[in-house]
Amino acid sequence: MQTAEEYSKIISLHFAPEVVRKPMMYNLAKKFDLTFNILKAKISPREEGHMILELSGNLEDFKKGISYLQEHGISIRDVAQTITRDERLCTHCGVCTALCFNRALSLDKVTRQILFNDARCTACSNCTRICPVGAMHVESNGES
Ligand code: SF4
Ligand code: SF4
Repeated sequence: MQTAEEYSKIISLHFAPEVVRKPMMYNLAKKFDLTFNILKAKISPREEGHMILELSGNLEDFKKGISYLQEHGISIRDVAQTITRDERLCTHCGVCTALCFNRALSLDKVTRQILFNDARCTACSNCTRICPVGAMHVESNGES
């Protein structure tokens, strides 16, 4: 079961040619207990690597993992995405709250409405995949 400390973010990695063949992703999982979902990966003709991935895990481990990558010369950028909710479509069914590890979506116990706090949202897009009525939208703005 995921805990409140779980964190998830989509990031873009750029590897120098000398790092491309190192098992960085394997180490990330093994040393820091992080999981990742590779959304895009390519190696340029000059053998530089570029990867966009969703990285998830305990927040403290997440920070350590990012530091580890940076210490090995990998440059990291956030992928600029904005998540919006179409208030006309949302039925407040609550399905999305189970997959929002950053607690940007939560139940208001008084009104029984699902609150969306976009300040906590890291644009992992879990909710956009699970929402049965397509109320959550992702707007991709490229890399920040
Ligand atoms: S899953 Fe969709 S419809 Fe249900 S509360 Fe979340 S945003 Fe609203
Ligand atoms: S609101 Fe959606 S996109 Fe934002 S953190 Fe929660 S699950 Fe991820």
